[in-house]
Amino acid sequence: MVLGSCLCNAVQFKVTGDFKRIVNCHCNLCRKMNGAAFSTYVAILQTDFELVTGDLSFCDVTENARKHFCGECGTPIFNSNPKYAGLNILHLGCLDSDLLGELKPDVNIYDESKISWLESISGLPTFDKAIG
Ligand SMILES: [Zn+2]
Ligand SMILES: [Zn+2]
Repeated sequence: MVLGSCLCNAVQFKVTGDFKRIVNCHCNLCRKMNGAAFSTYVAILQTDFELVTGDLSFCDVTENARKHFCGECGTPIFNSNPKYAGLNILHLGCLDSDLLGELKPDVNIYDESKISWLESISGLPTFDKAIG
């Protein structure tokens, strides 16, 4: 079992089953709705998602994609989509697990719209914390 939460901790949840797939999505929709260069998701069975505390708000970002998030702090928790009925597409970053480093993505999808500099970020000057 793996626990997850939002930034303000109002929403806490647990995942009671296996991770089906871990995906880096480089599509423009995810980039825009998450404000991030790309998005890493963990697909789980909807029935393996258990809300422990708090309430989720949602927003229909397209006629298919619904984003579920903490209404207090805005942290995205999961997406759902009738095209992938029965799955919750969890945002990897809201998992609390110390295992995050071991939860390696299996695939990149929407590579056609991937930002080209992602290939070279490990070569950038790197600091342990923020630059002062
Ligand atoms: Zn929150
Ligand atoms: Zn996407």
